[in-house]
Amino acid sequence: MQILHTINQARDFRATSNTLGKKIALVPTMGGLHAGHLSLVEEAKKITDTVIATIFVNKMQFGPNEDFGNYPRTLESDLEKLKNLGTNAVFIPSMDEMYPNSEQKHTKVCVPHLDGIHCGKTRPQFFTGIATIVTKLFNILQPDYAIFGEKDFQQLQIIKQLAKDLCFPIEIYGAPTIREKNGLAMSSRNSYLGSDQYDTASKLYQIICNIKTAIIEGERNYAELEKTGKAQLTDFGLAPDYINIVNSETLLSAKPEDKSLRILAAAILNGARLIDNVSISLLP
Ligand code: AMP
Repeated sequence: MQILHTINQARDFRATSNTLGKKIALVPTMGGLHAGHLSLVEEAKKITDTVIATIFVNKMQFGPNEDFGNYPRTLESDLEKLKNLGTNAVFIPSMDEMYPNSEQKHTKVCVPHLDGIHCGKTRPQFFTGIATIVTKLFNILQPDYAIFGEKDFQQLQIIKQLAKDLCFPIEIYGAPTIREKNGLAMSSRNSYLGSDQYDTASKLYQIICNIKTAIIEGERNYAELEKTGKAQLTDFGLAPDYINIVNSETLLSAKPEDKSLRILAAAILNGARLIDNVSISLLP
């Protein structure tokens, strides 16, 4: 597995792959790798034989009072895991390499109609930070494919939109959410939870699954379902941010006649921000 630190090294990797006629799949991460991340590499390997992962804790997407300083950094074990999976290369740029004049002075990319809703309401800088770093990675590595987790569903839709708007010739793939046995979506931030909090954290998934069942059984009062779901989160000791039942394409509040829905949810437990979502396909 090649370890690339600089933009020039990453570009050389791309150039060599071109010469060899290889198509590249990109798996961007912030490290703290778990089975969810590794499943993206597995998905990438199904698409092509040249997979490059990136590890970069992207300061631009963190708010001033968020956990940039504490974010899990487990580089050695991350590299071991990627190598064991047969990843071809990993790009681990420094902060200076990506934001030489600080992230604040850097050019920014935003996706206006999708980045101020749901997670963007409480984290106004978040999706601009993501859109900017992903744009840079796309330009540096020029992958043919890029794989993102459906766990971060709003992020996935934003990246699909930016790839379309900025004319990147890259196929964007969404991969299913990998979960703990109790249903909790795997996340690097789960390391902030004590073992006794895993059960409480799993209530987020259980509650959105219950809402899904109610909708499949015919309930269409979405505002009431959202309200009840948030009250249940509070009862279990989670601080709800939102539970929103949306049209899965537009991410706007679902209308009773919409057939393809997502339930998006976020809550805080012990300072750890948990997010999750489930899809619903209603018969026409
Ligand atoms: P992160 O390191 O949190 O920025 O995530 C990097 C990529 O891994 C993103 O595309 C995430 O959506 C994806 N990811 C994170 N958690 C999971 C999970 N539990 N299952 C599948 N993909 C995930």
